[in-house]
Amino acid sequence: MPENICINCKKYLEKIRKYIDLKENEVDTLTKPRRTLMFSFPVPMDDGETKIFTGYRVQFNDARGPTKGGIRFHPDADLEEIRTLAFLMALKCAVVNIPFGGAKGGVIVDPKKLSKNELEHLSRAYIREIFKFIGPDRDIPAPDVNTTPQIMAWMMDEYEKIKQANAPGVITGKPIELRGSKLRDIATSLGGAFILREFMKAKKLKPEETTIAIQGIGNAGGNVAKILSEWGYKIVAISDSKNGIYNEKGLDIKKVLSYKKEKGNLIGIDEKEVSNKELLELDVGVLIPAALGDQITKDNADDIKAKIILELANGPTTPEADTILDKNNVEVIPDILANAGGVVVSYFEWVQNSMNYYWEEDEVKEKLEKIMINATKEFEVNCASYKCNMRDALHILAINKILAAEKLRGIH
Ligand code: NAD
Repeated sequence: MPENICINCKKYLEKIRKYIDLKENEVDTLTKPRRTLMFSFPVPMDDGETKIFTGYRVQFNDARGPTKGGIRFHPDADLEEIRTLAFLMALKCAVVNIPFGGAKGGVIVDPKKLSKNELEHLSRAYIREIFKFIGPDRDIPAPDVNTTPQIMAWMMDEYEKIKQANAPGVITGKPIELRGSKLRDIATSLGGAFILREFMKAKKLKPEETTIAIQGIGNAGGNVAKILSEWGYKIVAISDSKNGIYNEKGLDIKKVLSYKKEKGNLIGIDEKEVSNKELLELDVGVLIPAALGDQITKDNADDIKAKIILELANGPTTPEADTILDKNNVEVIPDILANAGGVVVSYFEWVQNSMNYYWEEDEVKEKLEKIMINATKEFEVNCASYKCNMRDALHILAINKILAAEKLRGIH
């Protein structure tokens, strides 16, 4: 029987053990998720047949509050990856000081191959599998790769039907009409843009002199392209799963986004094509991976020419690649800070749901900015005191907070 253990988490911990001492039970707390659910479940298809899907939900650590994390629908969804992402969610919530632990879920499915009706059946069936283990005070799912506000709406509705009660706080990333929060749709990107702005200020770098390449043009990539181009940065390349485009003078992001919206991809747009491999290796000021995990690996890390990497995707850089980037003096602003804006506004959504009182856009924006800036300041102090790279400093900061909470609960 395999152990309920996260192999990647062990690799992360090994890196920081030269800076902090960890007892054996602390390593166990940080590598063994509290709960791992894996299940097969039937979903009726439009042709009258039933198809069996595999789903996961991992609740990693709840010492600091109810567990929180997205659900992804992807053909390559995999348990080890979901465990790692659940661990990173626990760290992320600690980094930005919001009262949640970490979780993640997923279904092995290519949602593009399902009709709207089948997607709704799948989303509702997934919730029926996990409803006993989630709830506003227990575990709160959210969107992730290929899951949308509409899917969150179906999921919330299914949960409320089972519970026979109003429970909007069970899930975040809902549409505004169903008690979602203003700005949740762009929160990840806006949070990342705030972090980049602070980083650039500290380095005395100017947006108008900075070129950017973005991998991914979905929620995270598309919105950050829009925000950063409005702030004066020059976005020279962007891609989706089919292809990428490049213009050294800067892309017209409004035009690119409306083309993508209309056609569903970037094929045929009047710009030079680049492969995803070429995009990652462009000589730009900032590279923003905003698609999937494991994109910068030991095989291409030495070819990365960007000076700064802003990780909007979760886990886009492998631990082996991190070491190579460090050696090459590439500064990586890690995912657990760079993309934390999404979970921060999810937290605001959960707070608004429990108050039943809803904030205006300006209020959400101001509160998000404050949390992101405070987290950056706290982390800079930590980084200076440990003299290590940004990822290790953030991991130490987060792990110390989680272990402090465990200790106060009586786990020594
Ligand atoms: P999304 O499904 O909206 O977009 C994903 C994008 O990646 C799409 O444009 C897709 O075409 C592209 N893509 C997929 N495979 C690719 C490949 N091999 N090469 C290039 N592009 C590829 O998903 P999203 O919500 O934007 O999430 C993207 C990343 O950001 C994920 O790692 C996710 O975990 C992370 N993230 C998202 C949020 C959020 O609030 N949406 C929050 C935190 C982290």
